[in-house]
Amino acid sequence: MAEKSYKYIILGGGVAAGYAAREFVQQGLQAGELAIISKEPAAPYERPALSKAYLFPESPARLPGFHTCVGSGGERQTPQWYSEKGIDLVLDTEVVEASVAQKSLKTASGDVYKYGALIIATGATFIKLSDFGTPGADAKGIYHLREVEDATALYEAIKANPNGNAVCVGGGYIGLELAAVLNMNKMKVTMVYPEPFCMPRLFVSEIAAFYEGYYKEKGIEIVKGTVASGFESNEHGEVKVVKLKDGRELPADIVIVGVGARPNIGLFKDQLTVEKGGFKVDGFFKTSAENVYAVGDVATFPLKLYNELRRVEHVDHARKSAIQAVQTIKAAEAGTSVEEYDYLPYFYSRAFSLSWQFYGDNVGDAVVWGAKGADKVNAKFGAYWVKDGKVMGAFLEGGSADENKALATAARNQVPVSTIKELSNL
Ligand SMILES: Cc1cc2nc3c(=O)[nH]c(=O)nc-3n(C[C@H](O)[C@H](O)[C@H](O)COP(=O)(O)OP(=O)(O)OC[C@H]3O[C@@H](n4cnc5c(N)ncnc54)[C@H](O)[C@@H]3O)c2cc1C
Repeated sequence: MAEKSYKYIILGGGVAAGYAAREFVQQGLQAGELAIISKEPAAPYERPALSKAYLFPESPARLPGFHTCVGSGGERQTPQWYSEKGIDLVLDTEVVEASVAQKSLKTASGDVYKYGALIIATGATFIKLSDFGTPGADAKGIYHLREVEDATALYEAIKANPNGNAVCVGGGYIGLELAAVLNMNKMKVTMVYPEPFCMPRLFVSEIAAFYEGYYKEKGIEIVKGTVASGFESNEHGEVKVVKLKDGRELPADIVIVGVGARPNIGLFKDQLTVEKGGFKVDGFFKTSAENVYAVGDVATFPLKLYNELRRVEHVDHARKSAIQAVQTIKAAEAGTSVEEYDYLPYFYSRAFSLSWQFYGDNVGDAVVWGAKGADKVNAKFGAYWVKDGKVMGAFLEGGSADENKALATAARNQVPVSTIKELSNL
């Protein structure tokens, strides 16, 4: 059992950790000042690739191809990059205890890490159906997706079940993206979700109808308005049937559960102020304890634009919050300051040849244009959310880089809808 001390420690080795490391380097870092401690065996990578190119039937993405910060056009930070920069990348190492008072972290093997400043970037963990007591939900062949090892296991299962039956439970990002890649892998795919349409947290029915129609044309079955209530397995404990609450049964060789995620706050939840499921931070990602920062999925931060506290589980925020925390730390050392975080929510997804982006807030009335009867090959349509005569949120399928930029500007500036000649021409 060893004890080590670092000026800075990043706890967690995901998206935020990779971007924070790069920012430390850009701001000036001495060898031996920074350690990243991660449960994962791989250096930080762009997690969204796992539900997309990682599972492609042809030339699937593999590490080191998508280490951070390639997702935003930056350098590919392989383990060698970290060692060249003098950063200790402590992989395959779970922190099991933490003391804010003693400024220390303890790993599963009993090693103790002391820090001057800590950035908590522990992300989130998928929710399992067994968490709700669904019978049979721990059978073999039921997959969840968060880390590269989950994606590898799923990839191998897909290869082992050519032309097999796959059921995606959940109609959010994970369900939609995975249904697409399973279909591309020639599996017979059924999606199941309780809501009346997919992506209900963002989409309105007209938008969802386009994607559901597209998926159906690809041969994906969609079962709505019911939930998976149990699973049956064969004598080897492998899932074979998904039982639905409405009495139907679906054959399954592979099941993917995408029903949401829970932020990993357990280590500190009694030591730091928690709000909306995450660590409450200020506009500089400072938690309630001195020299302890929280970024990415675990941070509940002031969303200045809407004057409210929010927790965001998206990659763009993970990157930007990490950068903000490091700039804050470095500015304090230099006796300077940085501007408060001023985030414009931004989400995106890609599946098949489709690709959409959303900026802002989906509040008010949704005005959808071009979705009905949109061309399936070169789909292009969008929506604006309008409140008190102002554009609050903007969505575009199939937009160019310039168009997406215009979308972001409209949502950021909350432009009066009366100044827009045509909604399709922002
Ligand atoms: C499959 C998938 C697809 C996604 N696709 C999109 C997308 O298309 N668009 C989008 O905007 N967002 C997407 N997201 C969300 C996005 O990836 C997350 O918001 C982002 O990764 C959050 O970054 P983070 O650094 O906070 O957490 P993470 O990237 O999850 O990293 C957390 C890290 O902390 C480690 N850790 C946790 N606890 C401990 C511990 N006790 N000890 C040591 N290490 C620990 C974890 O192992 C992990 O390495 C996707 C997420 C998933 C899972």
